Order: sequence, then C-alpha cells, then structure tokens
Amino acid sequence: MEPEVHSNFIEDIINEELAEGKVTTVHTRFPPEPNGYLHLGHAKSLCINFGTAEKYGGLCNLFFDDTNPSKEKTEYVEAIKSDIEWLGFKWYEIHYASDFFDKIYELAVKLIKDGKAFVCDLTADEIRDSRGTLTEPGKESPYRNRSIEENLRLFEEMKNGKYADGEKVLRAKIDMASPNINMRDPVIYRVLHAEHHRTGNKWCIYPMYDYAHPICDSMQGVTHSLCTLEFEDHRPLYNWVVENTGVTHKPRQIEFARLNVTNTVMSKRYLKKLVEDGMVKGWDDPRMPTLAGLRNRGIPPKALKNFCEEIGVAKANSEIEVGYFEHFTRDYLNANAPRAMAVFEPIKLVIDNYEGCEEVETDVNPNDPEPKKRGVHFSKEIYIDAEDFSVAPPPKYFRLKPDGLVRLKGAYVVKCESYLPDDDGNVTEIHCSYLPETRSGSDESGIKVKGTIQWVSAEDCVPAEIRKYDYLLKDAAYPGQDFSERMNENSLTVYHGFAEKYLADAPVGESFQLIRKGYYKKVVEDGKLVLSEIVSLKDSFKK
Ligand code: ATP
Ligand code: MG
Repeated sequence: MEPEVHSNFIEDIINEELAEGKVTTVHTRFPPEPNGYLHLGHAKSLCINFGTAEKYGGLCNLFFDDTNPSKEKTEYVEAIKSDIEWLGFKWYEIHYASDFFDKIYELAVKLIKDGKAFVCDLTADEIRDSRGTLTEPGKESPYRNRSIEENLRLFEEMKNGKYADGEKVLRAKIDMASPNINMRDPVIYRVLHAEHHRTGNKWCIYPMYDYAHPICDSMQGVTHSLCTLEFEDHRPLYNWVVENTGVTHKPRQIEFARLNVTNTVMSKRYLKKLVEDGMVKGWDDPRMPTLAGLRNRGIPPKALKNFCEEIGVAKANSEIEVGYFEHFTRDYLNANAPRAMAVFEPIKLVIDNYEGCEEVETDVNPNDPEPKKRGVHFSKEIYIDAEDFSVAPPPKYFRLKPDGLVRLKGAYVVKCESYLPDDDGNVTEIHCSYLPETRSGSDESGIKVKGTIQWVSAEDCVPAEIRKYDYLLKDAAYPGQDFSERMNENSLTVYHGFAEKYLADAPVGESFQLIRKGYYKKVVEDGKLVLSEIVSLKDSFKK
C-alpha cells in the first residue's frame, strides 16, 4: 500500500492547470445517488468538492445521479439537500442525470452512427462469462458486427418498449482484448421497465453510470470530477466517453481515498438495512453515522468540517479511528457548551445540620475568556449519583464513603455520617453534615478534599431520561465478517435520573456538558426532558 499523502494532490493538479491556462474557473460537483441518506463518508466528499471550489473562487453543483430508478426516491433527494444545508455548503446549481436523458440518448445514437456502439442480445450472464479475466482477453459478442442501420432500429425499439428487461443492451464497441476489463465493450444502456422518481414512465431504457456520468459532468461545465478510488479503473472509460461522444466541454476525473472509520457502518446499502430491520429508530437515529443521525445526535457541523479538514485528501485508502472524529466534537463542545449537573442513578442525600436553601454560584463555562456565573439552588435534601458513594470503597476512592469527606461541586464540603440500606442492602439514603466554612468561592478553611462530585437539589430538579450510546458495531476490526454479526446489542443505555431545573428551562436542542458525565443534547419527548449523549467526556484518542 502507498503511504498516505497529506499534501493535497488535487490542488497540485489544479494549480498546474491554472498556470498552464487549461482551466480558468474551477467547477466541481457533489454527485450522490438518491438511494439513501448521506453518511460520514459523504461529508468528506462534500468538503472536498465544495471546499476545493470555494478555495479557488469557483463553483460546485449538487448533482443527483439518478440513473437507477428502482432504488431512488424523492424522500432521499430532500434529505440530501437538507443535510448539505446543515453543513453550511451552498451549491451553485442543482442538476439531475435525468435532466440530461434526452442528450444522453442522442449521444448514444451518435455512437451507433459512428460505428462505436452496438445492440447486443447476450444475457447478463453471457456477457459476464465472455468478458475474460485479468490474464485472458474477452470474447467478442456475436452481435458486435450488426450493421449501423440494424443497431439504430433495434436501439429505437428498445426505447419504444418492444423488449423486456434484460432482453437487449447497448454496448460500446471498444476492445475485448483491453487489459482494462472496463474497456471490454461495456454496457452503456439497458432495458428497465421501472417508474423513475422524476421522469415517470417516459423511459424504459436507462444509461449506465460509467456512460452517463462523464456526459452529465460535461453538460454542467464541470472541470474536475472528483470521485473515490474505486473509479480509478473506470477513468479510461470516462475519457473514452468524453472523446467519442464528441462533447465540447471536457472534464477531468480525479480520484481520492474513501473515508473508512472504525466501528462504523459506512455504506448506504447497509445503513438502509439497519433501518429496515428495525435495529435503529430511523435514518436519523443518534447512533447512525448518517449526517441526519449526526445532526440529531448534536454533533456541531463545524466539528465535522474540522475533522474532514484534518484527515485531508489521501490517495490511499485507510481506516480512521472513530475516537479521532469524537475528539473534534469534544474539542468544540468543551469550548462552547454550558456546564450543568445531572445525576443518572440518584440517591438521596440529607444534610442534617443544614436548614433552608440558598443560591450557590457556578461558571456557565469556565473556558470562556470571561466566564459568566449563574446561580444553582442548594438545599437540605439533594441527590447524588449512586456511583459516587461506596460503602466498601476500593483504594484511592475519592468520592463519598462512610466517615469520608467530599466537595459538592460549587457548594460545600460534606461529611458522611450514616446511610440507610434497604432490605437488600442497597443504599437508599445518605446522611451528612456540612462544613459551613468550606463554601465554594469563600473557602478559607484550609480543609483539603480530593474529590468533587455533582449533585442536584431535591427542591429544584426535574426527572430526566438519560440516553447513553455505544457504537453500533462491536469491534474495530472484524475482517471479512458481515456487519450483522458485528452489531452491538447494547448500543443504548437508558437511565432515569434527575437534572437541574436549569436544563428543563433551557432551549430544546442545546448542548451541555453534564459535569463529570459527558456532553448531552437537550431533547423533549412527550413533554418530558430527555438528555441524549453527544460524546463522552474523556478523550481516549492518542494523536
Ligand atoms: P454508498 O456505497 O454508501 O452508497 P456511494 O459511493 O455509492 O456510497 P454515492 O451517492 O454514489 O454513494 O456518493 C456520492 C459521492 O460521495 C461519490 O463521489 C462518492 O465517491 C462519495 N463517497 C461515498 N462514500 C464515501 C466515503 N466513504 N468516503 C469518501 N467519499 C465517499
Ligand atoms: Mg452508490
């Protein structure tokens, strides 16, 4: 495998072409097929296509490659548009391959007239079997030498619906002995009696991707057709179509590496299966690596763009650690998300020597250049997290334990005096005393405690459903295994806890750092507060 190239080789090519005057305005396009929702991998392609155009003051189109009517839907077209808008990219024009069907057909007729295409009656299996191998040339079709007149008549009949699906195809007449299998008389049109999401029943023949794409690029004035590496072997065919159809504007195809991320399903086909099999709640389930899922999860678009920028435009395929992506989200939220407190598995804590209530203060975000303060309601009865109290603590346990001291974040140091177990021995209530001289902000007591824990006032909290996520796929590397065997059955954990009322009052959709817990997005469902995990607190990623 080649080493990863971090310098942007696409820009190197463009710079040269601009210098030579081959190109004046850079024009790219982002070319999704509307057969599903966009995912993290598409974000890379979006950033490269829109980013390159932006950098050169050029143009980028949104181009829907809708040559496969049986799998495409308007729902997907709309979802793709809204995902691109969410990322903040603005397309110059929108085009559909189907807008060019007339032109694509006309150019196929021209190829026939020039003796460069023929109608073939072989079945799909026969075509595959006669294609040859990497070491052996293919066999020419017995229909290869039909007359131009016969080809024109048959192709017209194909268009007029005379033949059933698969009965005939149109093939380019190139070279059955070419070392590149894609050049061995590839199929360029097929019969398919299917309703198209835009052209309805106008057509019953549809062009193949390899034939249609260069024509569509040319028709749009695209200068650089940026695509992923699996199309590298198709480039000679791309160029053949550009040259032999005689289109005047000649685009250039350049390939870059696909983005693969550990623990992540990165294929529309499989993502669709997850949705259809009910393994997730929908395309926008927060665990999904779709852009709709990431957006619903609360991933800031800026974090996603920063990630794409940092991974760069590589020429060799590789797999990026999912932790690296999370790192950018965490970085962004650490700087931008207000802090708040919630307890996931609440235990009541009563401060026996405290009466009434008061406001204590906390930083909205200590990372702000000039941190603002807000009040937090403190009272005799509070809740803390079950994991922050231990009757039989392990060594170096700096949270609360019998006779131990801990600081309540933003408030006082408390000492555990006693606790009440239920019949099963679980702790149901903790009794503490507080040390009035340890109030945060004015503590001159000299008392040092090693642990600080979050809490919520029993008088000023609301119930919250807390959703914590794990990856949809179990392992980083499971070579050769089907993704269904890799599904993580425990990708969702739900807690029924309590949150500061501040969170209930905050705007829906806002992101917070739940102190000592992670970054969460505020959601309201059926009138109830839900805190949905965006990313955990700890960075496990090592650069
Ligand atoms: P999928 O296999 O998920 O359906 P695709 O390549 O068929 O992906 P398209 O809708 O054809 O999806 O993709 C639109 C553009 O996005 C193409 O140029 C494609 O190469 C690019 N793209 C898709 N997946 C990735 C990826 N993982 N990394 C980078 N670019 C990608
Ligand atoms: Mg595809």
